[in-house]
Amino acid sequence: MKISGIKTFEINPGEIVGPGRTWLVVRVDTDEGISGWGEATNSGAGSNTLIKTAIELITPDLLGEDPADIERLWHLMFRRFSYLGSRGLPTAMTAGIDIALWDIKGKATGSPVYDLLGGRFRDEVRLYANSWFEGCESPEDYARAARERVLAEGHTALKLDPFREMTATHHMFSDGQISAAGEQEGYDIVAAIREVVGPGHEILIDAHGHFNVPTSIRLANNLFEQSNIAWFEEPVPPESFDALKQVRENTNAPLCVGERLFTRYDFVPLFRDRLVDYVMPDTVWSGGISEIKRIAAMAEAHYIPISPHAVPSGPLSLIASAHAMTSVPNFYRQEHGMRAIPIQNSLLSEPMDIANGVIALNGKPGLGYEMNEEELHARAT
Ligand code: MG
Repeated sequence: MKISGIKTFEINPGEIVGPGRTWLVVRVDTDEGISGWGEATNSGAGSNTLIKTAIELITPDLLGEDPADIERLWHLMFRRFSYLGSRGLPTAMTAGIDIALWDIKGKATGSPVYDLLGGRFRDEVRLYANSWFEGCESPEDYARAARERVLAEGHTALKLDPFREMTATHHMFSDGQISAAGEQEGYDIVAAIREVVGPGHEILIDAHGHFNVPTSIRLANNLFEQSNIAWFEEPVPPESFDALKQVRENTNAPLCVGERLFTRYDFVPLFRDRLVDYVMPDTVWSGGISEIKRIAAMAEAHYIPISPHAVPSGPLSLIASAHAMTSVPNFYRQEHGMRAIPIQNSLLSEPMDIANGVIALNGKPGLGYEMNEEELHARAT
């Protein structure tokens, strides 16, 4: 079998992503009529246009190759833009094709992808809820939404960034500070949620790397003491492991990072220096099914749970991740954005089976789902 073509679909998923942001779907075709689907979606306006261009540039290198040689082709793709920097854009590009190659291999052999990865360690993949708080402004709003949207769907874990001042005024790290009023509002929101969800529910806090070291330490400690949060995610921006270490040494709150780390190489310091309690690579951003499986094995060797990031991406990001997590022992939970489910399902040949806080795969060969090309064309950018 040979790769005969690669096609990209950059689509507008509507208001569930920010202005100018898109999703990027990939189809890899073969000379034997089997096609595989992948996803290369990254975040940020314009990112997917760059990744789409990179896929178009690397396509001639892949035509005529045997799609079964996933490992060799992964390395070929990963090194293609090495002198630009091998992380981020190249890993999302690599992932889009890597996921499609696993889909092809599964379809060619009649096996679900998780079977090719070693088979089932579990039948269902536990989720945690994100994107459940649209329109919430006050602690009471968040508490109501947690009850009506999260608990009602059977979830036992949720995530949010309660520091609305930061998300409203800073897209990314600025001076790392927050006002006293903004800080207190965050505490009040989390406390109100805790009261509604009860002591057993896991509340995950995403700090989005907005804070400097002293602010981050104070927030993590107060949230842990006041509301028993289950993790404090990206306490500081992703560039400094030394800063993360300083937070680590000064808080008992469980820490988690990884959505802005790419490939197994970026995760080495986390394990070596014992910087986190959880890792959360994005299956697409970090390099695909092949790479998240390797990161999971590295984490397992340190008895660290893996909990893949998956927001705000299309359905194959979640499905590919679910295949990988079906097969790994040290799995904690898979992120999913509740608001995205209707549009994600509209892009698939059949809806995903998501209920009571878990996703169950359909057991069909490959990823198990075809993309709805009519819908892809209708939403083309
Ligand atoms: Mg995050």
